[in-house]
Amino acid sequence: MICSRCKEHKPIENKDLELCATCNKKRRDVDDKLYPGVRKDFLAMCIKFGIVSPIDKTEITMDSDIHHKMGRTGYADKWARDNDISLLIDARFFLAVSRTDHQWIELNPVKAKELGYSYSRLAKHETETEEQGTLF
Ligand SMILES: [Zn+2]
Repeated sequence: MICSRCKEHKPIENKDLELCATCNKKRRDVDDKLYPGVRKDFLAMCIKFGIVSPIDKTEITMDSDIHHKMGRTGYADKWARDNDISLLIDARFFLAVSRTDHQWIELNPVKAKELGYSYSRLAKHETETEEQGTLF
């Protein structure tokens, strides 16, 4: 396979984006650098609008968690893919939650989906290992 970024013949690590291990690592590093800023802006917006955590109704603060409704890896849709906005930094799929609510959501994935706190990734291959239960 040819890596979509460096155009070299290498084993593909990220099948969603057809990236070799090196290019995939670079992409993740960029996202990891961007994430704290995106997170901060999102929480600031939630505070401004008086958003509360969906279950326990705790007021959102700058220390609240972000639940990634579609997970953290891959892309939500074609627009995100075309603009290279991975789910880690795609604020359209963020949900500001208290730590307690976040733990409930992680422990009750089926109910969380029914309640609209989590979405399935229908169009996405599960090529990257999801970090289960990692809380931010
Ligand atoms: Zn590459």
